Amino acid sequence: MSEQSDDAVPPSSVPLAPSADPKPPTPIATPANEAEEQPLSGFEDARRIVRLLQCAQCSLPLREPMTLPCGNSLCRQCLPEIHTRHNITYPATAARMQGIDCPFSDCLRDHALGDCSMDVTLSKVMAQAKISMDEFQPVIGEAPILLEEKDEWAAAGVASLSGRLPRSRALPGGRLIATYKMVELGELAHDAEVAYKHLSGVVGDSKDLDATTLDAVKDKIRSEFDCQICYAIYLDPLTTTCGHTFCRKCLQRVLDHSSYCPICRRLLDLSHTISPAQYPSNARLASLLAGLWPSLLTARRALLETEESSTPADLDLPLFVCTISFPTMPTFIHVFEPRYRLMMRRVLDSDRRFGMLLHNPRQIPQPGLGATPPFFEYGTLLHIVSAQLLPDGRSLIETVGISLFRVLRHGVRDGYLVGSVERVEDLPLADEEALEIAETTSTTEVHADADTDVDADASPFASLSTQDLMALCTAFVRRMRAASAPWMHARTLRVYGECPTSPAQFPWWFASVLPLPESDKYALLQTTSVRERLKICATWVERIERVPE
Ligand SMILES: [Zn+2]
Ligand SMILES: [Zn+2]
Ligand SMILES: [Zn+2]
Ligand SMILES: [Zn+2]
Repeated sequence: MSEQSDDAVPPSSVPLAPSADPKPPTPIATPANEAEEQPLSGFEDARRIVRLLQCAQCSLPLREPMTLPCGNSLCRQCLPEIHTRHNITYPATAARMQGIDCPFSDCLRDHALGDCSMDVTLSKVMAQAKISMDEFQPVIGEAPILLEEKDEWAAAGVASLSGRLPRSRALPGGRLIATYKMVELGELAHDAEVAYKHLSGVVGDSKDLDATTLDAVKDKIRSEFDCQICYAIYLDPLTTTCGHTFCRKCLQRVLDHSSYCPICRRLLDLSHTISPAQYPSNARLASLLAGLWPSLLTARRALLETEESSTPADLDLPLFVCTISFPTMPTFIHVFEPRYRLMMRRVLDSDRRFGMLLHNPRQIPQPGLGATPPFFEYGTLLHIVSAQLLPDGRSLIETVGISLFRVLRHGVRDGYLVGSVERVEDLPLADEEALEIAETTSTTEVHADADTDVDADASPFASLSTQDLMALCTAFVRRMRAASAPWMHARTLRVYGECPTSPAQFPWWFASVLPLPESDKYALLQTTSVRERLKICATWVERIERVPE
């Protein structure tokens, strides 16, 4: 019956302080339960508040806090021993080849060290909270409070696991400061409760003092909880690998047009949708926000809802059904039909983006659309680099691929196709690595807890490491070049560039230059990892080499 860590409490379920004034019954129609609006009280919730500053590993106030990709935080000193991660060849950067076994029971996964960040916000919060607590000067003659650590196990009639007696201290400063000091002294375990005895017998003094202390702490740390993108209080705080924190929604908007941290400009290896399942919120910051400023949070959430409901997002992307395009690669289009000339004019007047879809002349059913439209459901978002308008109204459009998408709904506007699309994203790097480990080790070792299921009818290349797949493909390119294959013409290379050395880039280039039917290349548009794409490229190599020229 050890108490659950506060970190595990979702922001929406902060319980009412035990002795808070009873509220009138909440009308059922009110969206937010009023009980949740109560901030923690410095007197009644002193133990809970201090636990929000405490490391679950060493029980001290967090020192040089680090936040792990699962959203849990601990002291830098409490980071488990670093080990070398095996069976990973991509991306295989120095920071990703070292890992730790997550010590939090709700996770226990292997984290790449490069995914664990020095938490800038939490560091500042800890420093400011300490300054605030240390500012208190005991008044001469003031009665201290006796604090007794309550051993939850002993209370339940079980011998204490720690095998030591509960500790006690008489400290001045009210419950909040006294509890914080006891934690600083290392005498209060993270999960332990505390019993307070007011030695003077006057409880009122501590109540006022605790309220003042908490207000001072909140004043000191409040500005640390402002997002540097929207300048409002963090909503769903997400901490990036560089240690900076933003609202999830704000970061999503940034990632739409940039891959760099808005504060430090470091490259962020994040998928664009940054779903909560793949990138959990910073649990510690979320608990602090929910405990200290619940009404600000509710107001912020309501504001976002109004913003979102006023943005018409439906059927907003013009779609061009023609050929196959790939991210990062150029596509050239000759536009002559009047309806498409209109479409391109509108695209050029707005954000210069439209979707390219492959023609589906044989009416192959598209499962996601529940019908057989004249196009394939997966496509590529293109950006117009240049447009040459000819005197007769035709135009030559040069584009570059941005990202993959899937059509959710579609309709017709002024004769051309428009759609509502969903971005198709690559897996986070941790999942990409898990895929490689699962596939390359499954024949020799049993990985019952591997994140990624190994496909039963996996390709014959599944046992190759990601780098070996890349090597197989680039060796083929070199052989073809040496043999002066017609599709490796200098003109082609001028358009698509030289063979890329990056495994992430290679499949897009390879598919652009290789003389294969577009319907074969379409397989690439449905993939979500570099590894999957390289396996497809390897099957192409095998197929081409099997057939004599
Ligand atoms: Zn973890
Ligand atoms: Zn610690
Ligand atoms: Zn924000
Ligand atoms: Zn940053």
